Amino acid sequence: MRRFDAVVIGGGPAGLTAAMYLLRSEVSVALVEKLSPGGQILMTERIDNYPGFPEGIAAWELADLMAAHVAKWENDRFARLCDEVRSIEPGERLHRVLVGDEWIEAKTVIICSGARYRQMGIPGEKELIGKGVSYCALCDGNFFRGQDVAVIGGGNSALEESLYLARLVNKLYLIHRRDDFRASKCYQDKCEINSKMEILRSTVVSKIVGEKEVTAVTVKDLKTGTERDVAVSGVFVFVGFEPHSGFLPGELEKDAQGFVKTDGEMRTNIPGIYAAGDIRSKNCRQVATAVGDGATAATAVISYLESYDK
Ligand SMILES: Cc1cc2nc3c(=O)[nH]c(=O)nc-3n(C[C@H](O)[C@H](O)[C@H](O)COP(=O)(O)OP(=O)(O)OC[C@H]3O[C@@H](n4cnc5c(N)ncnc54)[C@H](O)[C@@H]3O)c2cc1C
Repeated sequence: MRRFDAVVIGGGPAGLTAAMYLLRSEVSVALVEKLSPGGQILMTERIDNYPGFPEGIAAWELADLMAAHVAKWENDRFARLCDEVRSIEPGERLHRVLVGDEWIEAKTVIICSGARYRQMGIPGEKELIGKGVSYCALCDGNFFRGQDVAVIGGGNSALEESLYLARLVNKLYLIHRRDDFRASKCYQDKCEINSKMEILRSTVVSKIVGEKEVTAVTVKDLKTGTERDVAVSGVFVFVGFEPHSGFLPGELEKDAQGFVKTDGEMRTNIPGIYAAGDIRSKNCRQVATAVGDGATAATAVISYLESYDK
């Protein structure tokens, strides 16, 4: 069975940063990624808020640069495994990780498997991602300054992000399929009195309209059955955010949504197992925070390995 000092699961910003830090410290590393390196950033066109790129940077270019930074430090004890991690079996001294059909052993594991925004699956949504359809107000809100946008959802994130967006945009339609919101009362009260917001209750979005970019959403009033187009240039979808956590062991502590709990050093409740990036239970999920988590986790792993055989 192949054995590594560290197995990094996920080649998004957190995993690529962790791998680069470990390789620079001459730790033997397996980096496992089931798709292309880059993670969620490959779902958008530009990253506008990552420090060091004042004009923004094409998302694919940032992903390539991060992957190249790992490649620069590759050594003969490094393995890049293009496969899916299917299971982790924690052990006393060594953990076992199932990559595709191969079990590998590791003294430490850093889980950087990230998360995904739930999509609605309506016409126009997939085609217009990055062209007006967004899942992150903090990332993309700035592109819609002074314009009209729609926000879809009724939970805390939808209302919290609406309040943030309302500071930037001209008008915001908050569209919810039910009469009552699931979000906390304090968010509801703030949205109700916000002069830039119009709340459309018992209303669903059946289509996002636009050729090269979003121009409108088609909404259906569930009480009357009437359909109409509402002109907007941006649509923010907040109908759920899920961790990539199906392969994680049951004994690993997670929050109610399934995100992994860690301390400030990215340690989980299982010695030798760490988590970094969007898979962690935390508030701010951005490239900058994922990179910070990856560096912190790798540094903690290096300290752990130093005392491993003592
Ligand atoms: C549309 C969109 C736009 C965004 N825009 C911005 C922005 O402008 N600015 C910003 O700062 N942030 C932005 N974000 C958020 C940012 O992309 C994430 O916070 C960041 O990518 C998280 O990095 P991560 O490494 O933790 O996870 P991810 O990027 O999610 O990477 C996780 C990786 O793990 C892999 N993986 C998962 N499970 C397994 C498994 N079992 N086996 C092997 N591999 C696995 C996945 O394939 C993925 O490549 C955006 C996100 C989206 C979706």
